[in-house]
Formats: sequence, C-alpha cells, structure tokens
Amino acid sequence: MSEHEAVLQVEDLTVSFPTEDGLVRAVRGVSYELRRGEVLGIVGESGSGKSVTSMAVMGLLPASARIGGSVRFRGQELIGVPDKRMRALRGGRIAMVFQDPMTSLNPVYPVGDQIAEAVRAHNDVSAAQARERAVELLALMQIPRPRERARDYPHQFSGGMRQRVVIATAMANSPDVIIADEPTTALDVTVQAQVLRALETARAATDAAMVLITHDLGVVAGAADRVLVMYAGRPVELGGVDDIYYTPRMPYTLGLLGSLPRLDDGRRGERLTPIAGSPPSLLDLPPGCPFAPRCPMRQAICETTEPEPVATSEPGHLAACHFSADLEGKRPEDVFVPSSDDPADHAADHAADDAAAGGAP
Ligand code: SF4
Repeated sequence: MSEHEAVLQVEDLTVSFPTEDGLVRAVRGVSYELRRGEVLGIVGESGSGKSVTSMAVMGLLPASARIGGSVRFRGQELIGVPDKRMRALRGGRIAMVFQDPMTSLNPVYPVGDQIAEAVRAHNDVSAAQARERAVELLALMQIPRPRERARDYPHQFSGGMRQRVVIATAMANSPDVIIADEPTTALDVTVQAQVLRALETARAATDAAMVLITHDLGVVAGAADRVLVMYAGRPVELGGVDDIYYTPRMPYTLGLLGSLPRLDDGRRGERLTPIAGSPPSLLDLPPGCPFAPRCPMRQAICETTEPEPVATSEPGHLAACHFSADLEGKRPEDVFVPSSDDPADHAADHAADDAAAGGAP
C-alpha cells in the first residue's frame, strides 16, 4: 500500500437504533478518508454521532444497531465481517484509546504485563522480549523509571499516566489506525497536553493514521491535520485545520469557535459567544437544517430543506449550510449573541439587514 492510498475509507455511513419510542438516527451519512500518518479530528457535542461513527468503524456496536454504508480498512470491507475477524483487527491493526483508561486496563495485573501481553498477542516473541518492549514503550510515553513502574498496578498511576499506559499498549503492535475517543476529557489542561503529546509520539513512531474524537474544538487545534464537525448525526463541515479555524463556513462551527476562550494576542479575555439552546432529539429531527432552531442566520429555506455538504471555495473544504458563503470574514460575535440575548431577535435583525441590502440570497 502506498503512503497516498487511504488506509481507512468511510462512505455514507448510517447507524440507527430501534427503541420503544421509535428509531434513533444516530449517524446519517458520514464519509471520510484517512491516509497513513494523517490525523482527523472529529468534533461535536454529545449526541452528535461522533463516537457512534467510530464504534461502527471498530465493530463495537450492539447487535441491534442498523448499519448502512461502507467502512473499508486497507481496501477490505469491515461492515458485516464476523466478530472473530474484527477482534483480530482491534488491538492489532486498529488500536483504540477510550476516555476512561480503566476501560482498557485490567486492575489486577501490573501494567508491564498487560503491555507485554498485547505485544505477544500479535508478535512471535518470547516473554522476556515482550517485557523489554513494554519497558521501551513506557519510556517512549515518558513514564519515569519505566522498568520499575512496569511492575506497578493501574491504581498506582495518576489518570494522565494511566492514559499514557493505554497509549503504550495501543502502540504495541504498530497499528495502522489509532482511534482515540475523548482521550483527554476527564483530565486537567496540563495533563491533557501531556496525553496529546503522547498520542503524537505514538502516531509519529508507528506512522498510523489517527482519528481523534472530542467535543472540544480547542483539543484538535494543534493535533489534527483535518477536522470533521458533526451535528445531529450529520457531517456539517470538513476541512483542513486552518479552514475550520480561520474560514469556517458553517454557523455551528463558528459557534463552537466562539465558545472557546481566546488566548491569542489581542483577543485574550474577549467575551465568549456560546451557542444558545441544545441539539435536537435524534428520535424526532426537525425538517430542514437540524441546526436551524439554534442558528441566528436561519431563513425560510432552512426550516424545510436540509443542506448537503458542498464544496466551498477552498479545496477539500465542505460545508452543509445554505448560506455558507455569507460567513466569509465573519467572527463568532458577528453571528452569535451573548446567551442573555434572544437569538430569534438576532435572526430577525439578520433578515432585516438582508432585505435592506436588496433581498435575501
Ligand atoms: S442552513 Fe440555515 S439554519 Fe442551517 S446552519 Fe445554515 S443558515 Fe443556519
């Protein structure tokens, strides 16, 4: 496989769950491709479908889930493959890092044994060689005194260190893809930075492709090459990290940016412009754009027609918004208002401005 070929291809992935109250449409048409060494950040609020998308990729959804579309790993279709084959891929060619490291670590075994076991599961090496590799991996993850600490149990490590042990385990088999689902969410900011550095070390050492799933656009800023923003189960914006941060073309992305504290020169201490309201129920999606009830830019068409992701003026940058071109040059504070103000008033102002300027687009 050449470095330019996609190692992971997700195409029009859909996932729904039948419930007593009806069908929950958790993922509605996600597509992306990942090449070796590339990092894709998937960003969205809880319930946006970002984690369900990756659970589908890893074959970890419950049997009741209805899955459509295609997930190809090195050209091989994964949807519908037997559990045994998926188990062999997981932990081997596709490694996972979850929010809670204790999901992956066994509390009753020393961490060195657990990493060594992962090494031996997929490599024909002796127990002594596997233990040596475990110590090397702990050292690479900047665990102090790695030979000694390899004998310690998970509870003897801090939360951030435990997560680095999980990343060391994920690296044990030089995976082709690392999927990290909210790996820094439970950690404070300094420890978050250490875990992100550990993930970058793992990616660089293995040249794996990485999917970094987070609710925090700030987390992917320095870590991702491309960013996929999800809302109500749909991809609403996809682009290079600079496209997403400097020229967002979907109001939801702009709103997420406005919710981040600014630390750059000249903007430090600026007032945040959070997005009012909450995401829609996936059981009962409104017709039209699912972001419309929260969007200060909404107009009549938004209430009836859901926008498809379409190319913007920048190559590789897609946005799902009827008025994405209107966002050019806009800052969050130009579109979103402080939470004490009513977005509906702002939408009315926007419509009035358009009318004054010669009619809505
Ligand atoms: S399509 Fe309409 S409601 Fe949806 S994000 Fe764009 S302007 Fe807002």
